[in-house]
Amino acid sequence: MHACAQEFLLFEIIDPETGRPLPVETGVKGELVYTAIDREASPLLRFRTGDHVEVLGTSCRCGRTGPKIRCFGRTDDMLIVRGVNVFPSAIKDVVARLEPRTTGAIKVVVDFPGHTTQQPLKVKVEHGPGVKPPELPALEAELERRLREALAFKAEVELVPPDTFEKPGVQKVQLIERRA
Ligand SMILES: [Zn+2]
Repeated sequence: MHACAQEFLLFEIIDPETGRPLPVETGVKGELVYTAIDREASPLLRFRTGDHVEVLGTSCRCGRTGPKIRCFGRTDDMLIVRGVNVFPSAIKDVVARLEPRTTGAIKVVVDFPGHTTQQPLKVKVEHGPGVKPPELPALEAELERRLREALAFKAEVELVPPDTFEKPGVQKVQLIERRA
């Protein structure tokens, strides 16, 4: 998204933990907050979107100076694994790169209260229909390595058969299975 309406929209990025505004600069990550400053006959709301975004740049060939941003998760879904922010949607992206050895479907098992854990994060991953039982341990190890390299956290991957989880349909698929 390229924000272009700066005269109508105050565009902020905040730290979701502290609520403090962060500088809107390339590389900054945080929660997107909008305030529509040109509205009439309604209260001025500083609206927390719940979207966790990264600022990709503040200059563009089109000449506009509004920030360009990419949304990569929901603040509500964010987990903190030994101090590292981890988004289930980002885990899903890494796992999906191994299709067809995985189906791309995952569930993060949250067996701790709140969002913070010091333990490895348990992730269930559907393996692809063509994967044979003797190949499963190596695939688990590869997924754990890729998640550590891409997202800097320790995962404990458990492979489950294809079609274990609900498929995307009208409802948004829940990527978290909460057990605490
Ligand atoms: Zn542009």
